[in-house]
Amino acid sequence: MTARGCVLLVLLAIVLGGCGGDGDGSATQGRDAPRADAPERAHAPERLREARGVPAVRGSAAEQRWRNALLDFHRELGRALRRIGSAHADDDPSERTVERVEEALETLRTCGDDLRETLARPPDARHRRTVQLLQQACRAFRAGAEADARALVADTEALVSAARRWSEGTALLAQANRALPRPLPIDALPLPSVGAAVSFSRVEPELTRAAREVLGRDAEARCWSEPDWKRLVAGQQDGGEGVIWAYAVIHTSTVHLSPWVCDDLNALLYGGARPDDDDELLLLAASVQTFAHEVLHLAEGSNEAVVECVAIQRVRPIAELLGLDEEEGARLAEAYWEEIYPDMPAEYRSDACRPGGPLDREPERDEWP
Ligand SMILES: [Zn+2]
Repeated sequence: MTARGCVLLVLLAIVLGGCGGDGDGSATQGRDAPRADAPERAHAPERLREARGVPAVRGSAAEQRWRNALLDFHRELGRALRRIGSAHADDDPSERTVERVEEALETLRTCGDDLRETLARPPDARHRRTVQLLQQACRAFRAGAEADARALVADTEALVSAARRWSEGTALLAQANRALPRPLPIDALPLPSVGAAVSFSRVEPELTRAAREVLGRDAEARCWSEPDWKRLVAGQQDGGEGVIWAYAVIHTSTVHLSPWVCDDLNALLYGGARPDDDDELLLLAASVQTFAHEVLHLAEGSNEAVVECVAIQRVRPIAELLGLDEEEGARLAEAYWEEIYPDMPAEYRSDACRPGGPLDREPERDEWP
């Protein structure tokens, strides 16, 4: 085994040892934050507990109005960026799709005008730095929007190079947010959407599509860069030593994935990678199951054992949505069930999770998982 494989397996052993709990039934669920069920994990966090969503309204009415305008501004930009990413992911884009990308580009180009109209006069001096940073962000959005709509739909390189500029813009939005007296939750800020193996934070269009297909409704999958992921999970670690692989936020219907989970899934989606041996299969099984688990939090709620068991039963079709064939999907599901599930912490396991058991969603089916 290579040194890297060894390190990864050690990490896997630690991480699969834990996953955040469901806690107070609030929006945040995590697979993910390891729990203390073995000595080496004694300091692992109890659960993910960062409160998400827009903080409770405080401050003046003027400030609240301005914050609402900022949320609308984010929403508009996020929608435009997502539209471009999903048009590119569309196998057979229509003329209408190209038009919609052109409209989205127009939103990005005119970001500065919108800003002047709605946000240029902040409620007080504490918001001034944010406005300056938002202006810089709009310049980056505009620079990326100089691209041609048709090229963005057809050409991955064109999309990636435009998305790099937008990524500078969204990083500035995050910086603008940090400058606020009361920052908004960072995992809900706009991100570029690009279907390619890149390292900057983005909405992942193929994983988003897979999540929607599994759920039969809207959902979003986000892939985070290393530095952004560190920042995101910093508030959730509780001083623990474990590694958070992913988490889901139910009220925004969003799955948030660590850079290494995304690397594995991107290698499948865009690199045609396939596991060569059993070690690689196990590593991949952990990443695919992590994705399945988080998506199913959005359908099944916060009980870890239930979510995990349903995800185990659905990981085969999900693996196929990510590009594996039927046989590979079956091997992956089996490897997870046999090699990893038994070592999951108690919270993630259940005696009811077995063929014909109470958590078997299709008891008439012969095969398991
Ligand atoms: Zn979970």
